[in-house]
Amino acid sequence: VRAAEPGYLARLNPEQRLAVETTEGPVLVLAGAGTGKTRVLTTRIAHLLATQKAWPSQILAVTFTNKAAREMRHRIGELIGQSVEGMSWLGTFHSIGVRILRRHAELVGLKPNFTILDTDDQIRLMKQVIQAENLDEKRWPARQLAILIDGWKNRGLTPKDVPPGEGGAFANGRGVALYALYQERLKVLNACDFGDLLLENLRLFREQPDVLRDYHERFRYILVDEYQDTNVAQYLWLRLLAQGRKNVCCVGDDDQSIYGWRGAEVDNILRFEKDFPGATVIRLERNYRSTSHILAAASHLIAHNESRLGKTLFTEHADPEAPKVTVASSWDQDEEARAIGEEIEQLQKRGQKLDEMAILVRASFQMRAFEDRFITLGLPYRVIGGPRFYERQEIRDALAYFRVVVQPADDLAFERIVNVPKRGIGETSFKLIAEHGRRRQIPLTLAADELLQTEEIKAKARTALSGLVAALGRWSAAAETMKHTELAEMILEESGYTEMWQQDRSADAPGRLENLKELVRSMEEFESLPAFLEHIALVMDRDGAEGTDAVSIMTLHSAKGLEFETVFLPGWEEGLFPHQRALDESGRAGLEEERRLAYVGITRAKKRALIWFASNRRIHGLWQSTVPSRFLDELPEAHVDVVEQTSSYGGYNVGGIGNYGASRFDRADPFQNSYSTPGWQRAQSNRGGPKPAPRSSVRLIEGELIAKSTGSRSAYSVGDRVFHDKFGYGDVAAIEGNKLTIDFDKAGQKKVVDSFVTAA
Ligand code: ATP
Ligand code: MG
Repeated sequence: VRAAEPGYLARLNPEQRLAVETTEGPVLVLAGAGTGKTRVLTTRIAHLLATQKAWPSQILAVTFTNKAAREMRHRIGELIGQSVEGMSWLGTFHSIGVRILRRHAELVGLKPNFTILDTDDQIRLMKQVIQAENLDEKRWPARQLAILIDGWKNRGLTPKDVPPGEGGAFANGRGVALYALYQERLKVLNACDFGDLLLENLRLFREQPDVLRDYHERFRYILVDEYQDTNVAQYLWLRLLAQGRKNVCCVGDDDQSIYGWRGAEVDNILRFEKDFPGATVIRLERNYRSTSHILAAASHLIAHNESRLGKTLFTEHADPEAPKVTVASSWDQDEEARAIGEEIEQLQKRGQKLDEMAILVRASFQMRAFEDRFITLGLPYRVIGGPRFYERQEIRDALAYFRVVVQPADDLAFERIVNVPKRGIGETSFKLIAEHGRRRQIPLTLAADELLQTEEIKAKARTALSGLVAALGRWSAAAETMKHTELAEMILEESGYTEMWQQDRSADAPGRLENLKELVRSMEEFESLPAFLEHIALVMDRDGAEGTDAVSIMTLHSAKGLEFETVFLPGWEEGLFPHQRALDESGRAGLEEERRLAYVGITRAKKRALIWFASNRRIHGLWQSTVPSRFLDELPEAHVDVVEQTSSYGGYNVGGIGNYGASRFDRADPFQNSYSTPGWQRAQSNRGGPKPAPRSSVRLIEGELIAKSTGSRSAYSVGDRVFHDKFGYGDVAAIEGNKLTIDFDKAGQKKVVDSFVTAA
């Protein structure tokens, strides 16, 4: 008698079911978007548990993000009808790597409580190594070394594995030696950088066969989602673990490989069949997610890539009413945000939930226009995979600079920027300033200025602080006459803040620089710096949209694996998408990766995909006409509706729209819309609403500061015997306001402020 079949199997097609039930031996599922790869993995885990082939702790399951891991855990619970406890090995490569490393830290020369360095520390440490070797730091910058070392780590290479001659261009062939020294320093500090997490795992497994054998014993089944985005180190790690029982199931889609820039290798898909001979390779061809229009648009687009394994996809979503993919244009990014906002409100009126809508951008700076618009509309939104635009670190830092300039009494802002970028005003110096400010009940900027006239703060920090205070004064004065956007640029430039990110070699640094530019751009709509800051204060005050029905805003990269009823894809313009950087750095390969990103974007949609491009983008106060993305020409006419847009600002028409043919979107003529039209002038004067009155502000002008600080009187007289925390006992030799010149018994004559002195 056959036992009743579990319900979860009945909800699979035959190929999916094969992938779930082939529990023993290697399995590779290679299939397009929306074909149920993730569903297969989830069901496979449920199946292993339900049939008692493994305990939860015996299953190693790797997902791409922590969020995906949480979701998978939740789904498995739903499938087997009870919550799953003890699936402690479900997570990302890194989270699992850390866990393993902490358990065996001693075996690789670390203590279990090792720290994981952030990029900042990593660079600083490399700098030290470079200096210690008496190399010219300018000629051989640390961030270049970091790229080299990260590259090796992504490939699973320890210093002694690096092939001879590689990295020879760096420091006259000393790249590998520096790598080795850097690793030694890490050990001394009991620290790891991100790349080490897997690399040290690899070393552990190779050098300690017993440990590896333990894990072979433990992990009866291994599963990997988004396999196409693994790098070599991750692949080697998997292979070592999987070679025990060989029950490894990887699912992926070569067309969705979008992390090549971080070292991912699609070749891992091909290697799998070689390294695991006899692997069952399963292809899934039925897409369950999207309508036939969406699927056709995505498939047609991706067919323009040369390097792909190739596959067919079909859907049985035969809804004759289903809308085609639409392509619409707008005048600029603000109008794009306005139009998409309207569209969202329309859909909402027709009963669609905001949770089922997403805006997928190529670059995070694009989010700003949407966030501003949605706040105006009162439309709840959430930003996935990163903070909201104005909450980003670089934006908060920049805003803090602006705040101190507009309002020197803004202590929180001052605290934030006083040593960002690092200028040698450390904790000790800051504490002195804060303490003095508190005692005197004056703002930190004033306190700093007062201390500068004394020797309380160490000479090096004093020089840096005096530079900063002088600059703040200069910017404050310039605010009276200069255009606020230019001032903002000047501040970011002169403070060294922009340069800090230019020097940063982490993968997100270029994005941060773009965000800073977008910040300055967004200020153009406001009358003045204070008016702009007022707007920001209101924006920041908003609660997050947790738990409520809300539109999602995220980058295409973080949309991987997700799905929504309606997907908005703004900014399909040459240079932005495909992104210029990808084209410049990786040529054809870069273009193909961008196209895969477009494929990922379109295939997130179940019912509706709406693509947009703006005819103009304003960069540094100048209108620049844009060229529609080449990807638009690669969409199949039969499945696309091109929406003729009538502007709400004077009825311009975007050139080329509706002219089907080779250059339907007139990429050929980039100057089509470069003339200023009455349209945009009106748009501009419409903006902003009533102008907020400029805030009255304390201007940080030197004369004024000095006037203030000399205004107060000291409680001491010449000849008084006093005690100072740092310099010890001494006699007051002269008094000027609250500054005392003291002949210290040991430290000699020094100028100090009276608040740090007590009567002896
Ligand atoms: P991606 O490549 O985008 O990660 P995927 O291949 O992982 O996609 P899933 O997210 O697993 O695809 O599935 C896409 C959608 O199709 C989900 O909503 C899933 O529930 C549904 N689905 C998958 N298989 C089936 C099936 N056999 N019957 C009904 N719905 C299914
Ligand atoms: Mg998936």
